[in-house]
Amino acid sequence: MIKSHQEILDGTRSVWGGEEESLLQGATQVPVVHSVSYGYPDIDTWHEVALGKKRGHIYGRNTNPTVEVFEEKVRLLEGAEAATSFSTGMAAISNVLFTFLSPGDRVVSIKDTYGGTNKIFLEFLPRFHVEVQLCDTHDHDVLEEEIARGCRVLYLETPTNPTLKVIDIQRLARAAHRVGAIVVVDNTFATPLNQKPLTLGADLVIHSATKFLGGHADALGGVICGSKHLVKQVYHYREINGATLDPMAAYLLLRGMKTLHLRIRQQNHSALTIARFLENHSDVDNVYYPGLDSHVHHGIAKEQMKGYGGVLSFALKGGLEAVRRFLPRLRHAHLAANLGSVETVAGPPRTTSHVECSEEERQAMGIPEGLIRYSAGIEETDDLLQDLKQALEAVHEAGVKTS
Ligand SMILES: *Cc1c(COP(=O)(O)O)cnc(C)c1O
Repeated sequence: MIKSHQEILDGTRSVWGGEEESLLQGATQVPVVHSVSYGYPDIDTWHEVALGKKRGHIYGRNTNPTVEVFEEKVRLLEGAEAATSFSTGMAAISNVLFTFLSPGDRVVSIKDTYGGTNKIFLEFLPRFHVEVQLCDTHDHDVLEEEIARGCRVLYLETPTNPTLKVIDIQRLARAAHRVGAIVVVDNTFATPLNQKPLTLGADLVIHSATKFLGGHADALGGVICGSKHLVKQVYHYREINGATLDPMAAYLLLRGMKTLHLRIRQQNHSALTIARFLENHSDVDNVYYPGLDSHVHHGIAKEQMKGYGGVLSFALKGGLEAVRRFLPRLRHAHLAANLGSVETVAGPPRTTSHVECSEEERQAMGIPEGLIRYSAGIEETDDLLQDLKQALEAVHEAGVKTS
């Protein structure tokens, strides 16, 4: 039997949360309902469901029983009133922005948002005469000044991609609420187990469920959580515009979420251990990880995060040439553009998250050409450490030989 979810911890919640109502005929697992439409022999009931006065489903673009369980599980973990889901993380982000922004509005954000989000800000929103102000991510004073000039939406992401900068959500949410703005936080890197933006003053939290929530790199999805009032508006935009989460993807994400706390515990541990190891390695220039005492925003991270996440990045002293030699030497890492999966994934931002930018633009964003983003999987920490050690040694030896 499933007990009340009030008194339990997140780890238990990610296993049981949201499933009870969907279980059919004694099934212990959530059914995947592929039906596109739902029949009603009584047209009065049908009408009431269609108007939203009675619970039920009408058509798959609006709601689906499997998708609803996924939304409910994330909602419980974020401690929100409501949640709704999307076909991808980018659909979640664009649907939120296009729900709340109109011509003449202003949005304040940071320069270090996810590559796709940055494209919405620079390429698409200006076409609709939305003013976009992107601030230096580390500069809270400038961010506060720009917010104080007035904005409809404050859009944040923390920790950021790929240099793991951390933003003080509480401080900026307070500034945003003074001017009546909606505060949106992309919580993909942290996950609700490490950080709960709604408790820090955010109004809406967004996830690319493709990453840590699903955790197996086999399904795309996005989700948002917040007040009923706000989520209802975004839900309406999505049900009309159609970026609906597929039921099979929802099932895969749900199955992945059962192990969320085990994965995050291991990934937090590995990333911190690896960051400390790399920080003291003579062939490594810089290590970016909010869990390190040396990280510029470690103080803020300590305040607002329970764990520091599975992603870190580091720059090799030998620059791009060293990266070219280093990456293929890794035995326990996919060289790919993804993060948050059970397998370790590594890659240079210049070919993954920031491939659209020129070298100068990356430089301006503080992304060295020799940077490597490393998303620790759930492998044994010692094996990952050994793997990194031998790859660094190989680069070092090659460097000695060629010099
Ligand atoms: C991957 C990612 C997204 C986009 O998610 P998709 O599911 O690929 O559309 C958005 N934000 C962050 C921080 C991400 O890592």
